[in-house]
Amino acid sequence: MSTAIPTRPDLASLPAYVPGRTVPGAIKLASNEAPGGPLPSVSEAIARATAEVNRYPDMGAWAVVERLSRELGFPQEQIAVGCGSVSLCQQLVQALCAPGEDVLYAWRSFEAYPIVTQVGNASSVPVPLDATHTHDLDAMLAAITPRTRLIFVCNPNNPTGTAVRRDALARFLDAVPPDVLVVLDEAYREFVTDRDVPDGLEFARTRPNVAVLRTFSKAYGLAGLRIGYAVGPEDVVTALRKVYVAFSVNALAQTAALASLDAKDELLARCADLVLERTRVRDALLEAGYEVPESQANFVWLPLGERASAFAEHALEHKVVVRPFAGDGVRVTIGTPEQNDVFLEAARTFGR
Ligand code: PMP
Repeated sequence: MSTAIPTRPDLASLPAYVPGRTVPGAIKLASNEAPGGPLPSVSEAIARATAEVNRYPDMGAWAVVERLSRELGFPQEQIAVGCGSVSLCQQLVQALCAPGEDVLYAWRSFEAYPIVTQVGNASSVPVPLDATHTHDLDAMLAAITPRTRLIFVCNPNNPTGTAVRRDALARFLDAVPPDVLVVLDEAYREFVTDRDVPDGLEFARTRPNVAVLRTFSKAYGLAGLRIGYAVGPEDVVTALRKVYVAFSVNALAQTAALASLDAKDELLARCADLVLERTRVRDALLEAGYEVPESQANFVWLPLGERASAFAEHALEHKVVVRPFAGDGVRVTIGTPEQNDVFLEAARTFGR
């Protein structure tokens, strides 16, 4: 049925968020999810919490905020919990940008950045990655104007897995004007093994224009429940709470996050195993002749250019779903050793 109700004309050009595909019977290595299901202790906590879903959740997720405050050593006033960190990306734009002000980010990077920017009526300034598929921080600095309000630095970067080092990031932060917020999106922080890749919280502790985003979706395996958090300047966190969709972090997610923090050691041990697989998969791909930038995340990037879509189709014939970015490359999530073996066999036979 057609309607006379006008919607925002600019939404017609809004890029769609394309989620990784789920294909029945195929292995999904397309969404950077944890390969293992929830720990029994986490499942039990979720099951217990279902008995009270007739009640609204704790609106501010205060128990999670209080727990993170103790774990991270930041005051509660500097921590906001959101419905996944993607929600916090959107809240940041809504909270900081007047219509037409600029949001700067590297490209290619997390595909939600252009979407949340446009939804928030702000303007995107994408700055190309350098030839090593890494943030070009000098070019990003050069792109800052008086209209710039917010800069996303995805570290490690999705989908390339590359990471910005401590010294380079410190120099960048020194040069960013104090009224521009730099958001260090650390969705994959728990997979970082290079000691020169900084923990963004180091910077958030000392610099009043730095915020850090983290998520329970990846290392903590709770992608389906939707919970993440931001650590940042108190004024920014207060503003994030104002644009929060009431009750959007549900009760099961809050309970699961707390139970996951109780099981942190076990979950981080899983990450350590995954990192070993990351090395094995990358080495095998290099051996097979692929270019693969060193990854600090739970995925690898194959910059296949025009062959990206064909590679994804070939992988699917081997019953593996990967994530192609047409004309650019393919992102492959690290799975279990068995899943990775199936993927590697597909990679070895591509184009032969
Ligand atoms: N940031 C980055 C860099 C991501 O890759 C993702 C998930 N793909 C997110 C944020 C959002 O994660 P979530 O909303 O599940 O917390």
